[in-house]
Amino acid sequence: MSLREISQSNFFQKVKIDRAHIDVLFQSLKNRGYSLVGPKISEGAIIYDFLDVVDELPIGWTDEQEAGTYRIKQREDQTLFGYNLGPHSWKQFLFSARKRVWQGQKTSEGSFKTVQEIATQSQRYAFIGVRSCELHAIQIQDRVFMNSQYQDTEYKQKRADNFIVAVNCGQAGKTCFCTSLNTGPRVSQGYDLALTEILDSGTHYFVVESGSERGLAVLQELPCQSVSNNDLEAVDKCIEKAVGQMGRAIDTTDIKAFLYRNYDNKHWQKLEERCLTCANCTMVCPTCFCSKIEDTTDLTGEYAERWQTWDSCFTMDFSYTHGGAVRASTQSRYRQWLVHKLASWIDQFGTSGCVGCGRCITWCPVGIDLTEEIKALKQAEREAKNGEN
Ligand code: SF4
Ligand code: SF4
Repeated sequence: MSLREISQSNFFQKVKIDRAHIDVLFQSLKNRGYSLVGPKISEGAIIYDFLDVVDELPIGWTDEQEAGTYRIKQREDQTLFGYNLGPHSWKQFLFSARKRVWQGQKTSEGSFKTVQEIATQSQRYAFIGVRSCELHAIQIQDRVFMNSQYQDTEYKQKRADNFIVAVNCGQAGKTCFCTSLNTGPRVSQGYDLALTEILDSGTHYFVVESGSERGLAVLQELPCQSVSNNDLEAVDKCIEKAVGQMGRAIDTTDIKAFLYRNYDNKHWQKLEERCLTCANCTMVCPTCFCSKIEDTTDLTGEYAERWQTWDSCFTMDFSYTHGGAVRASTQSRYRQWLVHKLASWIDQFGTSGCVGCGRCITWCPVGIDLTEEIKALKQAEREAKNGEN
């Protein structure tokens, strides 16, 4: 039975497809000219990269995470999306980690004339396997790059035709805390298709929901069956399991006011001894968006280029102004990051800058955990009020 026969009333439709038909989904997206990007195993991690066939997915693999620890291991089943999150986020495909933004040739008058680059066709990405927290992160970056006074034209172009195949999480990692930020684990917005992977008594299938007109058009090409109440219950059970496994939590009640009144909290000093200012946390964070601009010339001085590269508030140079860095100490840089993520981001963009993906906890080489730091700051505030130090 085709979906066309099931209903055409609107584009929010739910159907069931067999595991064996996921390759039809891949083919349908490729036929539309999309470059598929999704999870695959590389160098001991589940990363995001270009995909051609379903077999490249991390079939039968999962990951184990803790503060400062990440390992992949084989599962006992053959799930396609049975892992949590790896070190990559989707931002690297929308906001390049390093790109040339200008090139110029010296003129006889001594100034530089722009060398026009041959325009390349912008890539149309279909992201496969986007989790709910990651969808929220993409929407946060949309506000930064597309919905403000200064817009990133390349980002805007890539997002305009960016097909999203989301996946409801069937498990949560030990560093996940999306439930604290209301960003998951159930996919609720910003997707074209949302999949839930069900393995039950020897059957392996997906409940697929379309969330846009173009999502529905793809769904109409998949061999599908109608969903039963049992299937919908299986979806709920799968997501409830992930909620129950949430490894971390953060109390966000009054978090903005709490952080603003705690600039001088003594606990920040403890970060001085622990944080390496390596910037890993900002590189893996799906919402961090800072970059720097560098100009270079060749040895003759006749040819110049301007490059944009991801940067981080953890580097000394990031806050350099005339005469020195504004945030010279480690504690001031960690405080800037945490206060921006959970407090001033709200003033700037109307939303928290954290989606609870847990990457900064997993990939911090010394295991600094923002959920624990918030608890420690609260404890230090209580002690200061009670005059205990
Ligand atoms: S908090 Fe961890 S990951 Fe972030 S800069 Fe410090 S040491 Fe590096
Ligand atoms: S701050 Fe950490 S937990 Fe929050 S979105 Fe960034 S990487 Fe994920």
